Amino acid sequence: MPDTLRQDQDPGVTLITPSAPIANPTHGGRAKCLQRLVRLDLPVPRTVAIDFDTVHRIAHGSMPNMERILDHFRPGALLCVRPSSEDPDWGGPGSVLNIGMNDAAYVDLSDRIGADAASALYQRFVVSFAIHVARLDPDVFEEIEATGQQGLSEALSAYEEEAEEPFPQDPARQLAEVLRSMARAWEGTTARLLRQAKGAPVDAGLGLIVQEMALGLGIGECGSGVLQLANSDTGLPQVTGRYLRQSQGREALRGGAGSIFLERDPRGPSLEELAPDAFERLKQYAAFMRLKLRAEMQIEFTIENGNVHILDGVRVKRSSRAALRIAVRLAEDGIISRPEAVMRVEPRGLSELLHRQVDPEAERDLIGRGVAASPGAATGRIVFSSSEAQASAARGEPCILVRRETSPEDVRGMHCAVAVLTERGGMTSHAAVIGRGLGLPCVVGAVGMGFKTQQHQLVAEDGRRFGEGDVITVDGTSGQVLAGSPKMIEAVLDDSFQTLMSWADEERDIGIRANADTPADALTARNFAAQGIGLCRTEHMFFDAERITPMREMIFADSSKDREAALARLLPMQRADFTELFRIMEGMPVCIRLFDPPLHEFLPSDRSGMRELAEALDLPVSDVTRRVESMGEYNPMLGMRGVRLGIAVPEIYDMQARAIFEATIEASHDGAPVVPEIMLPLVSACREVELLRTRIDAVAAAVRNERGRDFDYSLGVMVETPRACLRAHEIAQHAHFLSFGTNDLTQMTYGLSRDDAGRFMSHYVQQGVFAEDPFHRLDAEGVGELVRIGVERGRQGNGGIMLSICGEHGGDPDSIAFCRTAGIDYVSCSPFRVPVARLAAAQLAIADKIK
Ligand code: PEP
Ligand code: MG
Repeated sequence: MPDTLRQDQDPGVTLITPSAPIANPTHGGRAKCLQRLVRLDLPVPRTVAIDFDTVHRIAHGSMPNMERILDHFRPGALLCVRPSSEDPDWGGPGSVLNIGMNDAAYVDLSDRIGADAASALYQRFVVSFAIHVARLDPDVFEEIEATGQQGLSEALSAYEEEAEEPFPQDPARQLAEVLRSMARAWEGTTARLLRQAKGAPVDAGLGLIVQEMALGLGIGECGSGVLQLANSDTGLPQVTGRYLRQSQGREALRGGAGSIFLERDPRGPSLEELAPDAFERLKQYAAFMRLKLRAEMQIEFTIENGNVHILDGVRVKRSSRAALRIAVRLAEDGIISRPEAVMRVEPRGLSELLHRQVDPEAERDLIGRGVAASPGAATGRIVFSSSEAQASAARGEPCILVRRETSPEDVRGMHCAVAVLTERGGMTSHAAVIGRGLGLPCVVGAVGMGFKTQQHQLVAEDGRRFGEGDVITVDGTSGQVLAGSPKMIEAVLDDSFQTLMSWADEERDIGIRANADTPADALTARNFAAQGIGLCRTEHMFFDAERITPMREMIFADSSKDREAALARLLPMQRADFTELFRIMEGMPVCIRLFDPPLHEFLPSDRSGMRELAEALDLPVSDVTRRVESMGEYNPMLGMRGVRLGIAVPEIYDMQARAIFEATIEASHDGAPVVPEIMLPLVSACREVELLRTRIDAVAAAVRNERGRDFDYSLGVMVETPRACLRAHEIAQHAHFLSFGTNDLTQMTYGLSRDDAGRFMSHYVQQGVFAEDPFHRLDAEGVGELVRIGVERGRQGNGGIMLSICGEHGGDPDSIAFCRTAGIDYVSCSPFRVPVARLAAAQLAIADKIK
């Protein structure tokens, strides 16, 4: 047949030899890896690779010539077929073993390995063929209890009855059916969706390999197993795996009776004792593969009458922690270079190392879902208010703060909680920003749950009710809320982490600072080797019990004089805050943003708060209530906040500038000279900067005079309104640096409230309106265009200006990639995201070099 003739020459079917044209993108990773093993002269059974195109044609009914494939193998050899996709993580149809088994082979094999072993092998093939290839009802075959010849004949009869034909005896037909069924399984919709979810492209191809079986059954020492030289959880060197006598494939891993350890082990028998030579050889092969394939590999092996065969090699499965240690060890052993080790660790996986996590093996009793706003997981008793959180912490009881949303008033409660759960909010809402800053697991925007905080009830998505004191777990890594206390795995930061980070820093070409508001944040930032503080949000410093009252008195002051009196009480506290930050960050830049939020956020919102304030101010409650109401705004995020406060109530910024300068002098007494950076928030007009610069310069001059000491400082502008981007050339002339506040810039560019976005963001992302939450990954097209304009115009206006971003995007690898290309000098992110940012930035630089 001309068709057969053409297929006879099908270049898509290739015997794997050292020089055969086999490649990952055409034949898949397994085929390529087997070729590498063949090149290393390892004892790999004869193998044929079928490429993606041929498999695709098989799925659509066009078969290559089976006889030609079989000709590659010894007559009567049993074969197995395994999938070979481009990336092993994309999965694929299960392997089918023992193809070629039929009545004649059974007789032959019974002589060689005994009737029982031959029956078991034949029966296993019939059952696997029936279920996975002929797609017959599995129950019929799984119900067969008999073994030996009886079991085999029951299986063959069941096949005949169900398939309405005898079990196929022709090896060519068996092979053709197996290939067809595996090829079709790959092209099915479910399989496609599953692999796409793992990152596979829509048109990902499947290769297949056909390999001669090394039996693992029979006379002498026979069996199979898997072996690797590193522990998959820790990455530490350790011979791991199992061996099972008289078995095939991965049966040894099924955990049934009979599987034994590989290395001598006090818990039971081992291959090392049973077959020391084979064990030694296996270890040598694995070490050789590690060296030559430049990766930690798991080998699948068979021992046949004492002889070792290597059937397959796959990259060792690994936790994030193991991935890091394996990469570092490979580089330390000189097998890969340091930049290569840096490239091998997934930056997002790092956050798993920095926080406690729910054990991936643990049962999850899911009660709700929301935005995964701050990674890590914690278990505690539910509390519904900040004061209950404080009481709980005082009793030493871990608690989870459950709020509809959080406000600055909740910060103290957040400090006392082990995790936070809110109904409202998105990636940059208050709870999310503070949670990340504190390294506190946080799920926000859990809109499917009922937050009946007044009745002290939390209602799960499935209707279950949880009250105060009930134990739940917040998993801020996945965005899930769980009932009870699942098993956790602890955070681990070991030497390999520090080593890899130092290698990353050698490559990185963009600066990384941290957003840090408190001494604890600053210490974390320093520990993670941030190159300074890129944003200190000073408003977070005003919520301590002793500060909130003078703060409120200041807000209520009728005259500038009264206001100054209240501010004078706050001054020493602010000075102490800044002195401590400067001391912790000694020698590094610290960028302090002047007061930003609307003042009314500092006023009480409930009756008891109003009463307390009335007592403190010696005013009637009605007076206080009226004044608080009068300060309300229709749209506070666009109202009297940021630099507008600085212009309208200048005494606040005067006090903060003075505190910064006095702290500069104090901290410079006993350490390296401090050069503070002062930043003005929410600027939209050049004149705002001019006015405030004059005022701050005047405060600096006054402090210099009073103290008789000189110091430098730099003044910058937060570019977080679209207008500031557009007018950056003018603004830059009055500033030493510009820092893009991409949280507010995203909010204002989209006209999308950062506090309410969680409500519908998942719909938007699921329906493809947004590829990703723009508060999470910088929108390179829209917001990004404004940033690019800001960068370009800012540099036009002031060639020496320093440019940075300090929105939450600073810790997101994709957004960092954008910042690098946009010409940003440094990014600043929450302290716990600093390592992720360092690694991601290094990978971008390395990728550019090897392009
Ligand atoms: C921003 O808007 O990007 C920013 C960093 O400031 P904040 O989140 O405090 O508004
Ligand atoms: Mg902002």
